[in-house]
Amino acid sequence: MYEFEYQKPASLDDVTRLLGDEDAKLVAGGMTLIPTLKMRLAKPTQLIDLGPIPALKRISEDGDAVMIGAMTRHADVNRSDVVKRAIPALAAMAGMIGDPAVRNRGTIGGSIANNDPAADYPAAVVALNASVRTNKREIAADQFFTGMFETALQPGEILTAVRFPKVAQANYQKFRNPASRYAIVGVFVAKSPAGVRVAVTGAGPSVFRQPEMEAALSKSFTPDAIKDIQIKQDGLNSDIHASAEYRAHLVNVMARRAVQACA
Ligand SMILES: Cc1cc2nc3c(=O)[nH]c(=O)nc-3n(C[C@H](O)[C@H](O)[C@H](O)COP(=O)(O)OP(=O)(O)OC[C@H]3O[C@@H](n4cnc5c(N)ncnc54)[C@H](O)[C@@H]3O)c2cc1C
Repeated sequence: MYEFEYQKPASLDDVTRLLGDEDAKLVAGGMTLIPTLKMRLAKPTQLIDLGPIPALKRISEDGDAVMIGAMTRHADVNRSDVVKRAIPALAAMAGMIGDPAVRNRGTIGGSIANNDPAADYPAAVVALNASVRTNKREIAADQFFTGMFETALQPGEILTAVRFPKVAQANYQKFRNPASRYAIVGVFVAKSPAGVRVAVTGAGPSVFRQPEMEAALSKSFTPDAIKDIQIKQDGLNSDIHASAEYRAHLVNVMARRAVQACA
């Protein structure tokens, strides 16, 4: 039996108050949390639904950036004219997540807070040098993802929005698991006046940058510039879907495809 109270707070202040109970849990799209409850891997005493809070669902331009509210669904990011105009690669990435049912329920906030090692959004957040806003502070992408299913979020902290600087030259390439559609390896490449960033998801326990590729692409933004860079297998995921050796190979292939697509 489930033994929790379902809460539908109307404001962020109410959410903060309810999260004072350390056994309370936020629910966004429920795509990950509900299966976790079904398998009895989590037993919250209160389930706090972020759905009724309109302020968390906005997509807006903020100067040279785009702000996406935590409760924005993947399908809405994919269809957003604002995102398509400012960061087309981000809109395209959101359209690659799961299947239509997942994209119409899953949210950017839930995906990022969950930090599944094979999720797509962490690669976009890191490559685009985004920052994560919470009810307490703003956290830079490079400090946010701290390990497998782990982030810098503290107990009681609510992810409210993600701020993506506008980047015209960017692309995401994903080698997907044909069953779940999660990334076996996904590489997001972004080139901005500040430099080139390459973020890899699916290959390791958590998203990571590839500094060697970033340096090579900063000198010459061509697929050839990185073709000889060998990715070390140490610490990469190895499971029934792909060995560490295969994932290491895929990182280079996906990165070259992403650079090619940018051109
Ligand atoms: C069949 C299937 C296929 C999928 N394929 C992909 C894929 O290809 N690529 C991909 O990237 N993802 C994939 N996903 C994941 C999916 O896209 C969701 O993003 C993910 O499940 C979490 O988002 P959610 O909104 O459902 O969060 P929930 O399941 O509601 O929450 C997840 C966790 O985040 C916490 N949380 C939620 N919102 C906040 C917040 N605002 N602040 C702080 N904590 C919060 C919750 O408490 C919970 O611990 C797939 C999921 C399924 C079921």
